[in-house]
Amino acid sequence: MKPSLEHCFKLLLLLALGGVTMHVPDADVLSSLGALRLYGHFSFHDATAMARDFGNRCSLLPATVLHPGSVSDIAATVRHVFSLGERSPLTIAARGHGHSLMGQSQAAGGIVVRMESLRGDRLQVHDGSMSPFVDAPGGELWINVLHETLKYGLAPKSWTDYLHLTVGGTLSNAGVSGQAFRHGPQVSNVNQLEIVTGRGDVVTCSPEENSDLFYAALGGLGQFGIITRARIALEPAPKMVRWIRVLYSDFASFTEDQEMLIMAKNTFDYIEGFVIINRTGILNNWRTSFKPQDPVQASRFQSDGRVLYCLELTKNFNSNDAGTMEQEVTALLSKLRYIRSTLFHTDVTYLEFLDRVHTSEVKLRAQGLWEVPHPWLNLLIPRSSIHRFAKEVFGKILKDSNNGPILLYPVNKSKWDNRTSVVIPDEEIFYLVGFLSSAPSLSGHGSVAHAMNLNNQIVEFCEEADIGMKQYLAPYTTQQQWKAHFGARWETFERRKHTYDPLAILAPGQRIFPKAS
Ligand code: FAD
Repeated sequence: MKPSLEHCFKLLLLLALGGVTMHVPDADVLSSLGALRLYGHFSFHDATAMARDFGNRCSLLPATVLHPGSVSDIAATVRHVFSLGERSPLTIAARGHGHSLMGQSQAAGGIVVRMESLRGDRLQVHDGSMSPFVDAPGGELWINVLHETLKYGLAPKSWTDYLHLTVGGTLSNAGVSGQAFRHGPQVSNVNQLEIVTGRGDVVTCSPEENSDLFYAALGGLGQFGIITRARIALEPAPKMVRWIRVLYSDFASFTEDQEMLIMAKNTFDYIEGFVIINRTGILNNWRTSFKPQDPVQASRFQSDGRVLYCLELTKNFNSNDAGTMEQEVTALLSKLRYIRSTLFHTDVTYLEFLDRVHTSEVKLRAQGLWEVPHPWLNLLIPRSSIHRFAKEVFGKILKDSNNGPILLYPVNKSKWDNRTSVVIPDEEIFYLVGFLSSAPSLSGHGSVAHAMNLNNQIVEFCEEADIGMKQYLAPYTTQQQWKAHFGARWETFERRKHTYDPLAILAPGQRIFPKAS
């Protein structure tokens, strides 16, 4: 659809009424987009929806939304904006599924590219070799990648806990879950990318070809180009998973067992963990409604004022090797120091296990508890500091974990490629600690203010104690903060920005490079 002047003026009015501070592109500039010959179209009706994200705490209205019908639509749009030069305020944000936390996939007064319009027909599995792979559009959801690859008995190796996220969105961050100890994060499992750079060039890149752009884009926070296709490594998919949770009351035993398991050769296929602090209110009387075999229940009972640590594990198997799996699991569990009466396990399909958070999403949506603010805080803590961190945070700063899960599990640096843009602590083992709070109330314990106050205390402690923490999915707002985040790697990051997006058109919502105008 060609944007009419009337549409443009309506939008400019909306921007002004929305009270959002932004560079407003003039109507001629917006109208010039309508002259582009595209397979897809620009639209205005979904601009408000594109000004929202999962975090639900930041709303920046775009001037228009591109629904690309092809990669060339994205390239033509970026080239056009690039041709307007540095005096134009127009920026472009690729939007995956909009599951960012603080406006990272938004573009105030700019163009949002709905990457999901590009998904579907180009998802292609290549299963004919020893190293199978899938070519996935950047806007494809991981759940759809899984469905498609399972048809060939294959699946990607490394995941996020939740699969209704896009390929381009998680590869722009890192993509971390309980398989990362073995395979590295998702960015370590990509063979090739197709990227539209900030100049509008369509570039194929890999470790062998245009490698600087390849590594820049992985974990690159959308700063160097829009990922339109990713070639993702696959492995044979198991049919079933033994899903296990066990509880600890001692943090040292919990983390020592986690570390032993991630370093062992014969080990589980997925290793995570979480912290339960003085948990109340989910079940009034967990003991009567408790199904000891169900691992989901392990996180639900009251912890009676104590801090407990839950180790979460899986072992993959197929029907013909269930016996071997039983033996291996028994042998592995016998080495652990959990509270013996707290072993919960169940057998589910691989698909059910990987898509487990979606099951919670459906329940929370039904109660109106999904589309609430999410003041999340995700930290990467070096192993050498994790005990100091736990001592200060669990039970002292945080008196309960009723507002959402607290993840805590170790990963190993050697599985992360230091040529990517991802920033991690400088130690072989570091922990991902995720405070995944929901804030359904306007005031009090369940409010954004309460959660942010706790988050700030945690971050301040990390800074004052100088524990070498790095934030994941960081919501920094100034270049100064980003420079501190990147440290010695800032120079490379900045050089790459000048090379691939010299006018700072892309991903303005990360607030790293303000667009000159
Ligand atoms: P968006 O939020 O839409 O975009 C994220 C950023 O990438 C933006 O800056 C955007 O402009 C840019 N971008 C989007 N698409 C592209 C593209 N094709 N090319 C270039 N840049 C692009 N993360 C983990 O690592 N592990 C987890 O286990 C995990 N679990 C999660 C669970 C839930 C319930 C949620 C909501 C998030 C979780 N995340 C996890 C975080 C997730 O990685 C981020 O939300 C990420 O932003 C992906 O979301 P998205 O695909 O919707 O991308």
